[in-house]
Amino acid sequence: MEKLEILEKIFGHNAFRTFQEDAVDAIVEGRDLLMILPTGGGKSLCYQLPSLLMDGVTVVVSPLIALMQDQVRGLSENGIEARTIHSDMSEEERQVVFMELKRGIVKLLYVAPERLSSMNFIEFLTTLKINFFVIDEAHCVSEWGHEFRADYRKLGLLKEYFPKSTIAAFTATATPKVAEDIQKALRLENPVSLRGSVFRNNLKVSSEKRISNGRTQLINFLNKHKNQAGIVYTFTRKEAEQTAAFLQSKNFSAYAYHARIEASEKEKIYQDFLFDRIDIVVATIAFGMGIDKSNIRFVAHTSLPKTIENFYQEIGRAGRDGLDSETLLLYTKGDEIQKRELMNNIDSEEYKEVLYEKLQKMYHFALSSSCKHKLLGVYFGDKVEVCETKCGSCLKDPVAQLDVTKAAQQFLSGIYRVGQKFGQNHVIDLLRGSKSEKLLNFEHDKLSVYGIGNDRSKNEWGMIADRLFELELVGVGEHRALKLTQKAKEVLKGTLKVWIDEDKVGKGVKIVKDEEDNEPKNELFESFRTLRREIATEFDIPAYIVFSDKTLVDLSKKLPQNREEMLDVHGIGEVKFERYGEKFLDLSLELKKDLS
Ligand code: ADP
Repeated sequence: MEKLEILEKIFGHNAFRTFQEDAVDAIVEGRDLLMILPTGGGKSLCYQLPSLLMDGVTVVVSPLIALMQDQVRGLSENGIEARTIHSDMSEEERQVVFMELKRGIVKLLYVAPERLSSMNFIEFLTTLKINFFVIDEAHCVSEWGHEFRADYRKLGLLKEYFPKSTIAAFTATATPKVAEDIQKALRLENPVSLRGSVFRNNLKVSSEKRISNGRTQLINFLNKHKNQAGIVYTFTRKEAEQTAAFLQSKNFSAYAYHARIEASEKEKIYQDFLFDRIDIVVATIAFGMGIDKSNIRFVAHTSLPKTIENFYQEIGRAGRDGLDSETLLLYTKGDEIQKRELMNNIDSEEYKEVLYEKLQKMYHFALSSSCKHKLLGVYFGDKVEVCETKCGSCLKDPVAQLDVTKAAQQFLSGIYRVGQKFGQNHVIDLLRGSKSEKLLNFEHDKLSVYGIGNDRSKNEWGMIADRLFELELVGVGEHRALKLTQKAKEVLKGTLKVWIDEDKVGKGVKIVKDEEDNEPKNELFESFRTLRREIATEFDIPAYIVFSDKTLVDLSKKLPQNREEMLDVHGIGEVKFERYGEKFLDLSLELKKDLS
């Protein structure tokens, strides 16, 4: 078969997406490849398709067992011989795969990077006909990235053991510096370099300052996504547990997932999520990389992630099927300070500085009222136009600006009066004339600024403090003590004014009622979804592997009436049609009859 035929018949797609064909061609021509394409861009196909065009087996290095299993399952569904060898398999199971490899029936072999450190395994590989190597999640190679793995670094040796073979490296997130590092570490030779746009046009990205514990904001967000699948990321395990319990009390089907949960329980939650039996997973970052579920409709963060790379990858798990999805980031200045403190015990000063800088950029991203997509573009070295309609900043009505110079002067004086040795809460307590023990112990109630700002709530002062950070009038020193910057003097002298969005001061958040038009799926979709769930349970595979949400949407739109029309539906190729086509076709005929 030729490439377009394979694309259609085996993968069920009628056209290549941006860069896919270039990537396929590069591999087939034996060129090394570095492809940087956002999550959901369709990277897997770029190596799976050439593998079918070429003789021999493709070795895919992937960081997580769950991820490998998922890929193997998906490929098998399309009738492709894929296997994995990993540490959770028994010796017998592994031997079976070794035999199959020797017999040459395997097209794609998924392994973890550790396996390629074993000389025995390398020697075994040299006896096979390998067409090319794939390094998935290649950013793990780079120390400048965010998920550095020492075993990935050693993959540079592949070029020594297999000097003639092609290496194709893939990642969703790489700054130009990380991309350069990947190329060097893997010793890619004059690679074809394909960088897709960072812009994910089906993702709406928003950030909001967290008010109190952020629960009202979270519920408002989740109410817009009833009965849809999504992930809520929390910072700590305890928070994951508490948030899940809270959401359950509000009738959401939400479960906590983190490193301390027993393996069997974790597996159950993971499977239930894949199979659409639960809607929401409330997780620490322990849940993520392995998630290949295409119909995740939303991702929320309850606090600031450590890097924009992490953030981008996590939000990227939403909307892999290309349908509209939404993300919300809740943050405070306190998050940044807390995470910075946790980095203090890192030995390498240089590495610590890299992390501090990444954290600071993350905070500025959250805080900024510029287009979020454009900001992501700037960070990853890609030119992205202002989105106008796909982010919280662009969708926000223009907000009147309020002159808060006087309040800013009060706040800055407060910092100065306590010797630049105290944190934000203390300064706010001072301005509001609090009788806290700490304040009285230090006799700060005797200072001239004591109580001069008691006309503003704590919350408002927090907003003003944030604005001062954003404008770099204030910095943080040891033990979270606030410090004045050079620029702060200009505000104190009255030569620089401070403005703030009017809606940032003096308002809380209100519960928003569910909106009807936020129920995007119709009855037809639900009928197909029910059938998909039944089939998934019957065959014991995740629902989205049967058919993606996009396929169901297309089915509901087209209501195909015969085999030809079925094959015209997004994501239905011949193999899939053989497996499940009849059942869906029957339902489609029935639904059409009901409509007429
Ligand atoms: P990535 O690895 O880049 O995150 P995937 O390979 O998981 O992305 O693909 C994301 C989704 O896009 C999958 O549901 C896949 O079936 C779909 N997809 C890939 N290529 C195409 C294509 N050419 N046309 C339509 N859908 C595609």
